[in-house]
Amino acid sequence: MDSQSKPRILFSRGEVEATVRRLATEIRQDYQGKNPLLLGILKGSFMFMADLIRLLDFPLEVEFVRLSSYGGGRESSGKIKVVQGLRSEVRGRDVLVIEDIVDTGLTIAFLLDYLRKKKPASLKLCSLTDKPSRRQVPVTIDYLGFTVPDKFIVGYGLDWDEKFRYLPDICVLEQENR
Ligand code: 5GP
Ligand code: MG
Repeated sequence: MDSQSKPRILFSRGEVEATVRRLATEIRQDYQGKNPLLLGILKGSFMFMADLIRLLDFPLEVEFVRLSSYGGGRESSGKIKVVQGLRSEVRGRDVLVIEDIVDTGLTIAFLLDYLRKKKPASLKLCSLTDKPSRRQVPVTIDYLGFTVPDKFIVGYGLDWDEKFRYLPDICVLEQENR
């Protein structure tokens, strides 16, 4: 991957919109009247989360947590730390974690473990995308948008080196033929 990499549309903004609407319908059925805590994982989930909660017409709380793995690069090192911790009380709450992509699963498995220790009333996961071909630890995704191939995904909040987050479609980053 280099500066010549070009994003190609995998799921158009229309498909994304329809899928977010479908997820909102599912979540509305399960969480109405529960005042859930929706916990977005920064930065990748911000656009998805903003669109999703606009479609949830009941009281809920919004919180964000920022995670990072030790060591750079695109691969999960498996050693995760909570960079910006939670300010909201998790104990006794119905917590719904909002993620952009589950790849190896190491990041989300770490966070779910961390949250479970805080004794929420319930704990579920909503992910915009899933890349099951790369899974290293089992993860249950309760609300899933799209399954994606084993390619690097950008757009609709997802970045490559902080680039391409602004794209309204979900794209695959491909090498330009030179
Ligand atoms: P995991 O721990 O499941 O391997 O991946 C965790 C994080 O790596 C994701 O939350 C995401 O931030 C990043 N990641 C994994 N695969 C991709 C991808 O295809 N595109 C982008 N932009 N980020 C990814
Ligand atoms: Mg992420």
